[in-house]
Amino acid sequence: MNSFFIEFRDPLFSIIVFFSIIFVITFFSYWWNKYKRNEDSKYLDKFLKQFSSIPSKDELKVLISSGDLSEKSWLILANSYYKSGNYEKCIEIYNEILGINNSKNRLETMFLLGKTYLKAGFLERSKQVFLSILKTNPRTPEALKSLFLVYEQMRDYKSALDVLEPLDELGGDIVLESSYLRVMAILNETKISQDEKSQKVLGIYKGSHQLAYLVFEYLFHHNPSLAWENFDNSKCELLSDILWKIEPKDLNLDIISQNGYLRELYSARGDVSLAKSSNTFEFDVLIKLGGKAKATLMFEYMCDDCKTLHPFVFHRCPSCHAIDSVNVEFGLCKDFYKDVGNGNNSFQ
Ligand SMILES: [Zn+2]
Repeated sequence: MNSFFIEFRDPLFSIIVFFSIIFVITFFSYWWNKYKRNEDSKYLDKFLKQFSSIPSKDELKVLISSGDLSEKSWLILANSYYKSGNYEKCIEIYNEILGINNSKNRLETMFLLGKTYLKAGFLERSKQVFLSILKTNPRTPEALKSLFLVYEQMRDYKSALDVLEPLDELGGDIVLESSYLRVMAILNETKISQDEKSQKVLGIYKGSHQLAYLVFEYLFHHNPSLAWENFDNSKCELLSDILWKIEPKDLNLDIISQNGYLRELYSARGDVSLAKSSNTFEFDVLIKLGGKAKATLMFEYMCDDCKTLHPFVFHRCPSCHAIDSVNVEFGLCKDFYKDVGNGNNSFQ
């Protein structure tokens, strides 16, 4: 019977104790690691949730005032919201930063807040922010330029012209801006006739030879005969889309027959047969097709300054805010309207 019991001093007892201790240690180690992994996983989930949901206005207030993150970090975060189009959150961050006493980046934050208000369409608030900056720092060209844009979007051209004066004193080139504002002011004037507007904008164009697209777009739309009388042959390519869309009854065949580019353009459109071929690929294809295919021109608009391509024409680039930088690009496309006038869409 005694053979079933191991004596205390038996070496086998030591071995059993040794392995028991190893087993217990291994078991607790395994259990502890599993527990820690679960805890880490919970913490990570909680941590990541903070970033997957946008902090509320009150949370932002607490987070920014706690000072755990530097103002620069908040400005970088606000900029990422700006780039993703979340202007509301961006504005909340800037306002909270401005609420901090003795903020180190007060002027920079105010400028960014004004820019964000402008981008989001809060023009009055944007104006107030830039006026506030200029009250204490009148020689800030970037704030003046931004205020100029605000006034322009508000169609307050008189105030915009007033902003040009200090910009001029700071050495900025304001000739183009000045002409642009005067043309825009005339075009948006409600108390003068279209003929008077045409004469006035034409006078500005003759004085500066700038803003050809803006001026001739208005003239060809409202007074085609005056536009042809004063047509600038050097701007043919720039005005390609305007020329392409002129009604056949408004064409001036005398001027067209004397200009190589216009001969090719209107031969391609099918109004005249004054060119057999063209060095411009699109015109050449359309001339050779002779109206036998449903093909026409489609237009896009590139900014000469920032090279951004836009589907619609612009007088001030929406991307870089450059004036008179539009460049007309065209290509061939299917003419969906070709048979509309021929009755092919008739139900009969
Ligand atoms: Zn541009």
